[in-house]
Amino acid sequence: MSIFNNTQIAFADRSDAQLRKAYWMFKAIEQPAITNIGISALNFTVKNNFPFVTGIVRNTLFEQFCGGETREESMKVVKQMFKRHVGSIFDYAIEGKAEEALFDQTCEEIKQNIKFAEGNPAIPFVVFKPTGFGRIEIYEEVGRGTVLTNSQKEEWERVVKRYEEVSQMAFDRNVVLMIDAEETWMQDATDELVNQMMARFNKEKPLIWNTIQMYRTGRMEYLAADLQRAKEEGYYLGYKFVRGAYMEKERERAAAMNYPDPIQPNKQASDDNYNAAIDFVLKNLDRVSAFFGTHNEKSTELVMNHMQAMGLTNDHPQIHFGQLYGMSDNITYFLGAEKYNVCKYLPYGPVKDVVPYLTRRAQENTSVAGQTGRELGLIDRELKRRQKK
Ligand SMILES: Cc1cc2nc3c(=O)[nH]c(=O)nc-3n(C[C@H](O)[C@H](O)[C@H](O)COP(=O)(O)OP(=O)(O)OC[C@H]3O[C@@H](n4cnc5c(N)ncnc54)[C@H](O)[C@@H]3O)c2cc1C
Repeated sequence: MSIFNNTQIAFADRSDAQLRKAYWMFKAIEQPAITNIGISALNFTVKNNFPFVTGIVRNTLFEQFCGGETREESMKVVKQMFKRHVGSIFDYAIEGKAEEALFDQTCEEIKQNIKFAEGNPAIPFVVFKPTGFGRIEIYEEVGRGTVLTNSQKEEWERVVKRYEEVSQMAFDRNVVLMIDAEETWMQDATDELVNQMMARFNKEKPLIWNTIQMYRTGRMEYLAADLQRAKEEGYYLGYKFVRGAYMEKERERAAAMNYPDPIQPNKQASDDNYNAAIDFVLKNLDRVSAFFGTHNEKSTELVMNHMQAMGLTNDHPQIHFGQLYGMSDNITYFLGAEKYNVCKYLPYGPVKDVVPYLTRRAQENTSVAGQTGRELGLIDRELKRRQKK
């Protein structure tokens, strides 16, 4: 029996009505046909401002997966979770046209999040997505080493400036800033930029963190090189470890453009690589801190077992865990109850602007083997347990 099976702990803050609603929602998104039709209809109607549909979305997907329409509105959820020793990471989930005004607006939003997180233990990290600060194509060109035109140079300088501004602010306010990982073809430029920020701002402790996707081949070699550089230049490393979210896209592009698939050949290989990253962290705690962003029970348990074997306290300041809000509460709330450092990514934004995020969650729950089944099983068991009382 899994240690993450305690549904009473997992759903302590959910009413019967909320659980029943979540049950029917997961049941609906379990059906790929319904999800696909629903998503097309949703994107159309919400974009065209049909208040009735926006209302339905707000009461279903939005309520399940988001904290609120604004940071302030999300504070109710933040406070509720913190009572259970679960931190929040605000995730500005708006996706829009890749244009300079939106990049500036996103940068401003992240700065506000840093101010909000300062001195607040309920918000231990601030996060942003690289493509929130610049076009994917410019990252791609820079990563490839293309000689940039003058206008491209200026564009890249603006991206760098945004990274510098938020990193400096995180440093000044002693807030940990984590940068998400995206597609491989833009990641080289991101990695280099984040490394430069680490070298500048992590001299005394890790305040700037990168994300490493262990479904990629060659990432252990990458980590070894990073460690070497950090030792030589004298700075600390912070990493969020995930498996990776763009597998289908990566494989399709590699096949279409005829280059080697950058993703591990199968799930087991990704899992083994993720486990190797866990070993890497625990062997290098003198320089490395980690956030394990995963819904995988085995990976989570493996970290816990290693920690115990090494005599580390559950709340060891260098080890963190995280799941997405609305998913895998059985892992999150168990870890919280045992006083591990655990957080939820908490997306927020106006309902109509977070629809792409919500539809991705729905699709992912249809495609990630077993995730929806797991959620349904847990909710069902908790409802039955409550009936028996
Ligand atoms: C807090 C948090 C933050 C996240 N941040 C990011 C981020 O910045 N960037 C990002 O890319 N993702 C991010 N993710 C998503 C993450 O990468 C995974 O897609 C998701 O969490 C599912 O993986 P898992 O470890 O939770 O679960 P599991 O169900 O154990 O693993 C599923 C994952 O395994 C891999 N996989 C599945 N089948 C195969 C196969 N046939 N061959 C090779 N690999 C396979 C894929 O990565 C798939 O997503 C984040 C997730 C969380 C919880």
